[in-house]
Amino acid sequence: MSQNLLVEELQKKIEGYGAEIKKEKVGHIVSVGDGIVRAVGLADVMVSEMVQFANGKFGVALNLEEDSVGIMVLGYDHDLHEGDEVKSTGKLLQVPVGKALLGRVVNALGEPIDGKGALKGAEMRFIEQEARGVIERQSVNEPLYTGLKAIDAMIPVGRGQRELIIGDRQTGKTAIVADTILRQLTIPVENRPYCIYVAVGQKQSRVARLVHELEKRGAMEYTIVVNATASDPAALLFLAPYAGVTMGEYFRDKGEDAVIFYDDLTKHAWAYRQISALLRRPPGREAYPGDIFYLHSRLLERSSKLSEELGGGSLTAFPIVETQAGDISGYIPTNIISITDGQIYLEPNLFNKGVRPAINVGLSVSRVGSAAQIKAMKKVAGTLRLDLAQFRELEAFAQFGSELDKKTQEKLNRGQRVTEVLKQVQYDPMGAEEQVLVIYAATKGYIDDIEVKKVGLFEKGLREYATGQARKVLDAIATKKVLDEEIEKDIIDTIEAYKKLFIKEHGSSTGTTTKN
Ligand code: ATP
Ligand code: MG
Repeated sequence: MSQNLLVEELQKKIEGYGAEIKKEKVGHIVSVGDGIVRAVGLADVMVSEMVQFANGKFGVALNLEEDSVGIMVLGYDHDLHEGDEVKSTGKLLQVPVGKALLGRVVNALGEPIDGKGALKGAEMRFIEQEARGVIERQSVNEPLYTGLKAIDAMIPVGRGQRELIIGDRQTGKTAIVADTILRQLTIPVENRPYCIYVAVGQKQSRVARLVHELEKRGAMEYTIVVNATASDPAALLFLAPYAGVTMGEYFRDKGEDAVIFYDDLTKHAWAYRQISALLRRPPGREAYPGDIFYLHSRLLERSSKLSEELGGGSLTAFPIVETQAGDISGYIPTNIISITDGQIYLEPNLFNKGVRPAINVGLSVSRVGSAAQIKAMKKVAGTLRLDLAQFRELEAFAQFGSELDKKTQEKLNRGQRVTEVLKQVQYDPMGAEEQVLVIYAATKGYIDDIEVKKVGLFEKGLREYATGQARKVLDAIATKKVLDEEIEKDIIDTIEAYKKLFIKEHGSSTGTTTKN
């Protein structure tokens, strides 16, 4: 009832203003609220065109209706009033791009919000860009390392890939982002991908904390943070991913590599749902507007590995989706699962059991990244998946406490240790060579006789030993990238030499040194 009245009133106002100022470049506001302005008189305005209000602020025309235009205000709307002028600009929205943004925190319009002054020498680019066609792309062929053993070994990501990170609240989603950004620090500058972290609806304090951690370790030098926090207007939350992807495409189009993280697209979808409701667009499934799928697919399509003719640059994407009680069959999760090349599925159960990163290996997959994996890693990772799969199957049985035959017991022992080895603390990303070494030790049975609770200690020690006095073997893996007989022998020698030291100091659980 009251709603109808409102609509009628609005209609009258629209007609009143519209009669006077038809087909003008200047229109007038007829209503304003919740970041949405309705204006009349902007007869020639285009969809996505920028309009300017009397106070100098900008908006974007989203809904073109017969007699009025629905405009999303880029910022707060409190000093916009009914009757104010609004001008069409003939321009689409642009954001600054380029190296000037590295090390900076900007808002969804690319304006610095870190108090470090203006951007120096940034170019401008339209945020609406066509995704590259099939002919202009090539399949992924270079790894994008996360520095996390469980991912780099079993769910490898290639440059130009789109890999979803999905999980409930507080399961370590953002931690994967932080580690992946930090991992790039040890990659030679000429080959290092630029990183773009897009925070959508995150708490300001959390983003500040992440930026602080990155800055402390020198990782902000190659990183851009686009921040639209939970307290920003929905318009900015909605725009932030497009601003970020535009900055990433700039590097890709120059033949360089970049990686973008959208943290997270669930909140992006909420922001879009809110804007759409205010624009009175018809709601669809779960009250999201019908084009949310199109919107997300168009966003993720913009990540790609370009063909050699176009410079061979890449933009890798890690969209993040938050689930409710592990439900991956919700509307937004299923949409995004279907438009990515795989997903890293995080589980609160594992997280709470101390398995961190809390990756459910069975439900996680990377459909294209193994093409970019080094051969040595591929070889050790094959055994790893198998060990874990068998372990998971047996673990359920073993809980009943029934008698286990020797072989089953051995598989359980192996699985427990492999699980231990895959645990990883935050802010300690590992190189591929180190990963090969410790995974080799675990999957070939060299730590079957180390007490489960000491496996972490063993792993840490082995890494220190290998990066210190036994550097040779890591270098060999790094340059040859395969596990030939010679390297395998070096690996075994290294592991056995360290193991002697370890057992002398900490002892073993069985007193024997079995293998295989
Ligand atoms: P939210 O849904 O709130 O955004 P999230 O899924 O992004 O949460 P994080 O913020 O990354 O989760 O991590 C949650 C908590 O777990 C943090 O306190 C973080 O420090 C801790 N954590 C994450 N990963 C690890 C890890 N590998 N080892 C130890 N602690 C971790
Ligand atoms: Mg998070």
